[in-house]
Order: sequence, then C-alpha cells, then structure tokens
Amino acid sequence: MIPYGRQDVTEADIAAVSVVLRSDFLTQGPEVPRFEAALAEACGAKHAVAVNSATSALHIACMALGLGPADLLWTSPNTFVASANCGRYCGAEVDFVDVEPETGNMSAEALQEKLQQAAAAGRLPKVVVPVHFAGHSCDMAAIHALGQRYGFRIIEDASHAVGGRYRGEPVGNCRYSDITVLSFHPVKIVTTAEGGAALTQDDSLAQSLQRLRTHGITRDAAQMHGESEGPWWYEQVELGYNYRLTDLHAALGRSQLDRLQEYVERRIELVQRYDELLAGLPLKRPGRRQDTRSAWHLYVIRVDEAAGAPPRRVVFDRLRAAGIGVNVHYIPVHWQPYYRALGFRRGDFPQAEAHYADAISLPMFPLLSEAAQDEVVAAVRAALAA
Ligand SMILES: *Cc1c(COP(=O)(O)O)cnc(C)c1O
Repeated sequence: MIPYGRQDVTEADIAAVSVVLRSDFLTQGPEVPRFEAALAEACGAKHAVAVNSATSALHIACMALGLGPADLLWTSPNTFVASANCGRYCGAEVDFVDVEPETGNMSAEALQEKLQQAAAAGRLPKVVVPVHFAGHSCDMAAIHALGQRYGFRIIEDASHAVGGRYRGEPVGNCRYSDITVLSFHPVKIVTTAEGGAALTQDDSLAQSLQRLRTHGITRDAAQMHGESEGPWWYEQVELGYNYRLTDLHAALGRSQLDRLQEYVERRIELVQRYDELLAGLPLKRPGRRQDTRSAWHLYVIRVDEAAGAPPRRVVFDRLRAAGIGVNVHYIPVHWQPYYRALGFRRGDFPQAEAHYADAISLPMFPLLSEAAQDEVVAAVRAALAA
C-alpha cells in the first residue's frame, strides 16, 4: 500500500536522537530551547514555544488569549477536530465559518457576513482559528482586517503549512495573527513523532504559553507574586498542564527542520507532476492563489461526477483496492456526534460539506518516488473510468 503521507527519518535524525539518549537530560535539557530557536528563525517569529502536540498548543493558545466559558471561538468545519476542541477545553462555545470552494479554506467573505450578523446579535467571537488547509495559507490579510474591525484575536492553525509562504513571507511569522500553531505528527511536513509548537511575536503571550505548558509555574522573579525565598523557589501563578516536549523529540525536530525547504520543494515538484499527469481527467485539481506558496501537506483531488466520473465512494474503493492508501480530508467537524449534540446539523455549512463529498487525498510525501507517483496516477485513471 502506498500511504497518503509518511515521515522521512534519516541517519542524521537517528544520530541526533542518539546523542540525547547518551546525554544527561532526556527532558528539560538544552534541546528544546535549541529546537525553539531554530523554529522561530525558520518561521520568522520572535518566539516559539514547543509542546507535546498541536492540540496542546491550540489549547494553551486559547488560554493565553483569555478564552473562557462566556466566549465564542469560530473555526473552519474543514479541519481536524482539534481546531474546534481547543475552544471547548476552555468552556467556550464553538461555531464554524464556511469555506471557499477552491481552496477549502475559511472564506473571508463568509466570515464577514457571519460577523455582521453576530455584531447585530451582540455575540461576536473572541477568537477565530483559520486553518491553512492542505498547506495553503488562508487569506490572512482579509481575516486580520476583520479582526481589527470586530475585535477578535486570531490563532492560525498552520498544522499543514510550516515551510509555506503567504505574500512573500513565511507562514508562522504572525504578521496577521496573535499566535500560529504547528503540528509535528509524522504525516505533517516535519516530525517529532508527537509534538507541536505555538509561535508569537508578543513577549507576554510567549511568557504565558511557556507557563501554561508547565503547570502554570514560573521561576522568573518578574512573574512572581511574592519574593523568591532562594534558588529552589518557584511559583504556580495559574492553572497549567504538563504539555512539555522532551529533548528526544526536540532533537529529532531540529534535525528534521534542516530539511524543511527541501521537503517543501520536493512536495512542489510532486504537485507539478500530479497537475500535469492528471490533466484532462474528470476531476478538479487543488485550487491555489498566486500570493501563497503552499507547503502541500495534502494533494486533494475532487471527483467530478458532472464531468462523467463515478461517485467518490466508487473511486475511493477502487484506489484502495489497487493498493493506493488514499484518504478523505475532512469529515466536516460539525457532523461529529459530539458537535451534533451541541446543536449542529448536516446542511449547516454547505461548502465544507460539498468539499467533503467529492474529496480524495492522494499520496503526497517527500519520499514518494516518481515511479510510485506514476502508479498512483495510473490507478486514478483506471478508477475514474466508467
Ligand atoms: C494534525 C492536526 C492537528 C493536531 O495535531 P496534533 O499534533 O496531532 O495534536 C490540528 N489541526 C490540524 C489542522 C491538523 O491537521
């Protein structure tokens, strides 16, 4: 089976992790700050706070922005459940903004309309979480402008998008947001096994993220309520968690990060080949805007029944039977029983539902060979035949 995504672990990665295994610190040693410095530099952010998953990063990002039970968080329905769950962890109400048909990203127009209605009803969101679907940045300038006008804070869920660019600048530099979140799960662009990070330009948000990942504890006198009683002294100033990344994971991440641009360039090559080889078939290739360089976490085709393709389910089953590990991104989050129980229904976000209905994610990862890609294309061609 050719999987839809997989990691690339090199001898250099293995050596970097082995160094940590033989060192004094398996966690809370020097590797996490080194990884954070490398991440901050790669993304053009002032601060990077590494944690044990993107889910944890989303949670403490919401907490750092003060999201609470009286508040609203809005995100995209075309995402992994974690982008919405972070709001629920804070007790906030979650709602969704429908997507653009071409990119599957949160639509700035739909957001504007929903904000106008929310302003009239006095129920504006405190936090909006745009998700850079498949690695393609949302229209952040437009979303940021709405944030200025309607007073919400922005967390970019860039779990798919590290190494990408928007308007000539790296995703993660937070020019249009308060915090950007990354994931280092093995199917994503670079991996630490499990792991994630929150990036920000803001010193006080960074302090808050650092405290929240480790129990709400600080050893910094400036953040303490009382006087330090000696070198052993620390204060828990709020309720945090143990969301720390280990030095083993950080060493893997830093070694992987050396190849970030190589990875993205390889993904772009594979996209160009898919675009050429799939031309003329009854499917839509993934949309993109000129101002964005996608990191291409996913290559999502849309099965075009109107152009003569069989139903998505048939195409999907044929591809799996042919040994192609295709997948579907994403089941609309508001369809999940947990969110249905909160009042959402099928039909609530028609563009995200239409995207789900005909989407298939083809294999896309740096180690995918051209021969294997040709095999995928031949299977797609056969699966699309009547
Ligand atoms: C993978 C993913 C997450 C969660 O990442 P973890 O590191 O597994 O917690 C969140 N949001 C999106 C969009 C993702 O793809």
